[in-house]
Amino acid sequence: MDTTSPSAEKLQVRCCIAGGGPAGMMLGFLLARAGVDVVVLGSRIHNPRRSG
Ligand SMILES: Cc1cc2nc3c(=O)[nH]c(=O)nc-3n(C[C@H](O)[C@H](O)[C@H](O)COP(=O)(O)OP(=O)(O)OC[C@H]3O[C@@H](n4cnc5c(N)ncnc54)[C@H](O)[C@@H]3O)c2cc1C
Repeated sequence: MDTTSPSAEKLQVRCCIAGGGPAGMMLGFLLARAGVDVVVLGSRIHNPRRSG
């Protein structure tokens, strides 16, 4: 999975998820696994709050 910053690139995807929290990351994972072109936009990779 490519985790490089897409800010300098022009992306064309079917689905764009705003927010890389647990919900956004899980949704992105499930969509990607189902074969959907998806990008998750977030200000940071890791959420400082805990989940689980
Ligand atoms: C202080 C605190 C402590 C917690 N501790 C625990 C714990 O120990 N264990 C536990 O299981 N849960 C804990 N939780 C709860 C847990 O953090 C949440 O249940 C979980 O983060 C919710 O995930 P989410 O993906 O729905 O939302 P979030 O984690 O809030 O993710 C949403 C993301 O979207 C981003 N975003 C919002 N608007 C935009 C926009 N317009 N464009 C781009 N990005 C955007 C936000 O910056 C954020 O990164 C805690 C919560 C808090 C506040």
